[in-house]
Amino acid sequence: MRTFEFTRASDPAAAVRAGAQAKTAQQGADVRFLAGGTTLLDLMKLNVETPARLVDINRLPLGSIEAMPDGGLRVGATVRNSDLAHHPTVERDYPVLSQALLSGASAQLRNMATTAGNLLQRTRCMYFRDTAMPCNKREPGTGCPAIGGSNRMLAILGTSEHCIATNPSDMNVALAALEATVHVQGLKGTRTVPIGQFHLLPGPTPERETVLEPGDLVSHVTLPPPVPGSKQLYLKLRDRASYEFALASAGVVLTVASGRVTRARIALGGVGTKPWRSPEAEAALVGQPAETASFRRAAEAALQNARPQSENAFKIELAKRCLTHALATAASS
Ligand SMILES: Cc1cc2nc3c(=O)[nH]c(=O)nc-3n(C[C@H](O)[C@H](O)[C@H](O)COP(=O)(O)OP(=O)(O)OC[C@H]3O[C@@H](n4cnc5c(N)ncnc54)[C@H](O)[C@@H]3O)c2cc1C
Ligand code: SF4
Repeated sequence: MRTFEFTRASDPAAAVRAGAQAKTAQQGADVRFLAGGTTLLDLMKLNVETPARLVDINRLPLGSIEAMPDGGLRVGATVRNSDLAHHPTVERDYPVLSQALLSGASAQLRNMATTAGNLLQRTRCMYFRDTAMPCNKREPGTGCPAIGGSNRMLAILGTSEHCIATNPSDMNVALAALEATVHVQGLKGTRTVPIGQFHLLPGPTPERETVLEPGDLVSHVTLPPPVPGSKQLYLKLRDRASYEFALASAGVVLTVASGRVTRARIALGGVGTKPWRSPEAEAALVGQPAETASFRRAAEAALQNARPQSENAFKIELAKRCLTHALATAASS
């Protein structure tokens, strides 16, 4: 690991000013905010991230979970994943989020990992994490050895000829299904970004993963008021039962009345280059009987644009079964 300067931000505005000295907030940033450190320090040890300056944001007043006047929930950027997962309001009103968080990493990691850090965690593509290999995301223009290489874990939705890396977060899938909003404090003031617009598709610039600019500090995330009577579930399929990333996962928020689906919010994990909300599956489901045949049709719609790589065609059927089962389980709960 290279040497770097370490400072503690005294207030959010100071953190923003420090961050704004970086040339980019994306891959290669020379100033990075340090939250739980479970992604960033890993990547610094591998020389994938080489910031000249770390700004510790752990003492900023961003660590609370608060009910909002409209009935929604405000989650501070430095709230630990374990505290969020076990918060009584989250367990009661947003179980898909609690389940997604608890399916990720390990208890020790969840005790350190934060809301914003999880939102911004990097891909687990093995070539990205190995500086001996080319990688368009790490070093633009060097190529993508995962295409035609080791890609069993990688994406089948939202890929480009430049990058097929998966967004690995479980939490992000639940946030997509819940239609969360990301709140950003930057040099020009504060702004809000719907979760669906926060992460970018790789396209020709896979080194750009989010809409963040230098200095942008995620201050908190808000969840809309819970939908009365909604049934929620996060289902994660992986190679082993714990401490493993998703091969395919589904976060669903369903409302059923008189045996028919009246509202559906559906997102997939483990298969997309970003947390994958599926409007196609939602449209296929609303108005349909809450039964297996409808759920399977929704799953077919969700995967209709999947483009498998050499080692991950199995993910298409796996993701369909994952979503079908998640919908059926949620509907019968
Ligand atoms: C062994 C292992 C297994 C794992 N398994 C899973 C899993 O199964 N599922 C899963 O979802 N995740 C998994 N993870 C990833 C884990 O969830 C993330 O590492 C964690 O959520 C990152 O949070 P952090 O607070 O530690 O982030 P950090 O490492 O501190 O930061 C990550 C990035 O976010 C930036 N950042 C942090 N806070 C802010 C902010 N407020 N504003 C702007 N930028 C910010 C940092 O600068 C950095 O670039 C695993 C990690 C490990 C090491
Ligand atoms: S898939 Fe993306 S992260 Fe992986 S090697 Fe290709 S460009 Fe790099």
